[in-house]
This record gives sequence, C-alpha cells and structure tokens, in this order.
Amino acid sequence: MAIATINPATGETLKTYEPLTEEALEEKLARAAAAFARYRLTSPQQRAGWLSAAADALDADADAVAELMTTEMGKTLASAKAEVGKCATALRWYAERGPAFLEPQVKDAAAVGAAQAYVVHQPLGVVLAVMPWNFPLWQAMRFAAPALMAGNVGLLKHASNVPQTALYLEELFRKAGFPDDVFQTLLIGSGTVEQVLRDDRVIAATLTGSGPAGQSVAAIAGDALKKTVLELGGSDPFIVMPSAHLDTAAGVATTARNQNNGQSCIAAKRFFVHRDVAGEFTRMFAEKIAALTVGDPMAEETQIGPLATESGLRDVEDYVADARSKGATVVVGGERVDRPGWFYQPTLVSDVTPEMAMHSEEVFGPVAALYTVDSLEEAIELANSHVYGLGSNLWSEDADERAQFVRDIASGMAFINGMTASYPELPFGGIKQSGYGRELTDVGMYEFMNAKTVWVG
Ligand code: NDP
Repeated sequence: MAIATINPATGETLKTYEPLTEEALEEKLARAAAAFARYRLTSPQQRAGWLSAAADALDADADAVAELMTTEMGKTLASAKAEVGKCATALRWYAERGPAFLEPQVKDAAAVGAAQAYVVHQPLGVVLAVMPWNFPLWQAMRFAAPALMAGNVGLLKHASNVPQTALYLEELFRKAGFPDDVFQTLLIGSGTVEQVLRDDRVIAATLTGSGPAGQSVAAIAGDALKKTVLELGGSDPFIVMPSAHLDTAAGVATTARNQNNGQSCIAAKRFFVHRDVAGEFTRMFAEKIAALTVGDPMAEETQIGPLATESGLRDVEDYVADARSKGATVVVGGERVDRPGWFYQPTLVSDVTPEMAMHSEEVFGPVAALYTVDSLEEAIELANSHVYGLGSNLWSEDADERAQFVRDIASGMAFINGMTASYPELPFGGIKQSGYGRELTDVGMYEFMNAKTVWVG
C-alpha cells in the first residue's frame, strides 16, 4: 500500500510520501539506540513531567489533530475530538500513577534468607509499535504513554493511510520536551517491518491489527526471540436476555456496532438475542440503526462517515451479499450509499447461519449480525465457537446469568449492561486469535519491562 493520505469521504489523494531510504532508516535506528542509553537513566518524575507536557500540547492541538484524523481515515469529527481527549487523559493517568508503578516492590526477605529482597521494574529498550489506522492517535498512544513512562524508546510504524497523524505523534513528543529521538515515526511499508524487527537494536514489538499481520510479526519475533504483545481482530458477542432493559440495550447495541463507522476491534458484531424478546429487540435495534445520520464526517450532525478504504468497503459489500445469497434477512441497510467516497449504510442482518462468512470472520464496517437463541448456554456456546476472544457483552438483570457469563465466556474482557471500551484503569486485550498480552494499567506497562529480582544478603 502506498504511504498516502487519501480522503475516504471523497476518494481524493491529498498527499503521498516516499518510504524511508535504507540510510534514513539506519540513522533512525541508531538514534533510537543512542536515545535509550540516555533515556533509561532519567527519573520517573522527569518522565511524568514530559508526559503531562505532552497532554497539554495535545489539548492545545486538539482541533487540528481531530481534523487531520477525519481527513485521513473518515471518522466523524466528533469522535476524533473525543479520541484526542482520551489520549490526553491517558497521558495524564500515566504521569500521575507511573512513578508509583516503578517503585521497588518489597518481598519477604526472611523467607528467602536475605537481608533485603525486592523486584524492580526496568525498561527493556527500543520497542517497535506496528499500529492500525482505525484509532490512529489512541492505538499509538496506548503504547506510547506507558512505554515512555517505563523508560523505553518507541519506534512507530503506523498504517500507510495515516502518515500525517503518524508524523504528528513524533512531533507531539518532541514539542513536549522529551529528550531527542525517544519516539520516532518510521514511514515504511509493512514489507520493511521484518528488517526492523530483526535488528539487534530493537528489543521487542507490539502490533495492533489483523491476524495475518500478527502471525507474521509473532513468527519473526519468535525466531529472533523477542517479546511481543498482539492486539488482533475481534467479533465480540452481545447477548440480550429477557430481563434486560431492552431499549437501553438496543441503544448501546447501535453505538457499539457503529462506533468509528463500524471499524473497531471491540465493536459488538454478533448479537445473540433470547427468543422471548427477539422480536421486540430486533424492532428497536432496527429503528435506531435506521435513524443514524450518514454523511460528511466533518459535519457536526453526522454519526456515520465513510469506511477508511475502498477495499474495506468492498469487503463489507461482499459479506452482506454472501449472507443474502445464503438466506439471511437484511432488516435495514444493506447497500453502499450513492455518493462519492466509501460510504456504506448502517445495516442489520438477521437469520445468520454458520455457512455465511460473516458468521466466522470479522466484518469491519457498520453491519450487525443477529441470531435468535433459546438460552444463555446456547448464546455462550455460539459466542465461543468463534476464533476470536476479545471483548464480550451481556445484558441481563439476573445475578446467576451474570455469574455464568463471567465464568464461561471465552474473552479477554466481559462487560455487563454496558459497552466494551478501553480505559487506562483497566487491562485491555484478548485471548485465542485476538492476540495475547495486555495493554493499559500497570499490567500493560510491565509487558515491556524487566521485572528484576534483587536479593541482598
Ligand atoms: P493490518 O493488519 O493490515 O494493518 C495494521 C498494521 O500492520 C499496519 O501498520 C500495517 O501496515 C501493518 N501490517 C500489515 N501487514 C503486515 C505484515 N505482514 N507484517 C508487518 N506489518 C504488517 O490491519 P487492517 O488495516 O486490516 O486493520 C483492521 C484489523 O485490525 C482488523 O482485523 C481489526 O480487528 C484489527 N484491530 C485490532 C485491534 C485490537 O486492539 N485488538 C484494534 C484495531 C484493529 P500497512 O498499513 O503499511 O499495511
């Protein structure tokens, strides 16, 4: 894929970039390694100060950055502004709590025959972050904030369709006063990732993106014995039981499926509704989906903008055509929007069966797949039959059902009567083919740290 800004609302190419030359890449790697040698010696308090300054700089740039993201990948301006705010919050969260996470953890010295025993968390080095376009600021920030707090150095290989947002991130940390080269953006294609990952100066990698990209990075990192964290796809279940507040559930279902124009790994994608309430829930859900305003993502009233890429639009069209041809019912939507750009109508498909591709794959666009079930067991069994296990949702007022859901659902995150979301305060990540490792909280920060055992006799 060319490294370029192409406005998904018009299809117009606005700016293209040449990938880094071999020499420029070498220079950036050398700079990253040199930066780590110095940066690891800075104090947690200094790093916290720079993180706070980055939050302030981001707040000052909020409107311009939000417009940039909307231009590059089509999210609505309102959601882009919210994303900027979330990034500033995460920077401040790590600035406030990071120093405490880095305090030595005292252990039972007497039990191990020592005068002193403790664990100290130390940074690992230069970490490569391969990131996707769907939340172009937030995906990178939830790597960068804990990594920089930890004392690591970041190299960002962002998705090829968000180069300006990628370059802005490097500029942000520079403006905040961080030491030179602790966070650099590499404008490279995915074909160059292997070279960077195998470079001895790079110690570890994190990737958020598709399964094939994750497999490739994990295989190379495994061969080179480097630590990885993977945040891959998801097809989150959203289970609605008879005791649920149906109108609230239908409202959240509409947001959960259509947030970010339907392109979120933690979007609820498969809706399992108990037969007793299936008719009523489907009617409410369909009404709310049909009422969404599709249009220019820069306009204030727009709730759904275009898909980020033309190939993404084609994939969504293919999933719906496949389901339709195999007997699914398209309750609302089901067509691309007749206007320039890569717009698809918010869509509800019911009577989904295992033969349909949307049953077993991930639809990265505003298409909800609805199933009618006879019990919670059946819903959980169907939910767990998928290769993914990222987030999950249950709507129920019944304590036993909630306990059963938490016990049995195969996912990294379980949300009850609410929408799956990421917060600095909670670990984020999946199991099975949704990846491994966790981001955010202290857990996410420790993923790329050496938990060094210290024993003093
Ligand atoms: P891709 O995997 O194609 O792209 C993500 C990043 O990986 C980009 O920077 C891309 O670079 C790079 N990349 C692609 N192929 C390779 C490779 N073989 N080796 C190394 N790097 C590679 O993802 P999509 O653009 O398709 O994004 C959507 C997918 O990402 C969905 O499956 C979605 O669920 C998942 N995702 C997961 C999230 C999570 O947190 N679990 C969050 C967001 C998305 P380039 O652009 O240059 O190709």
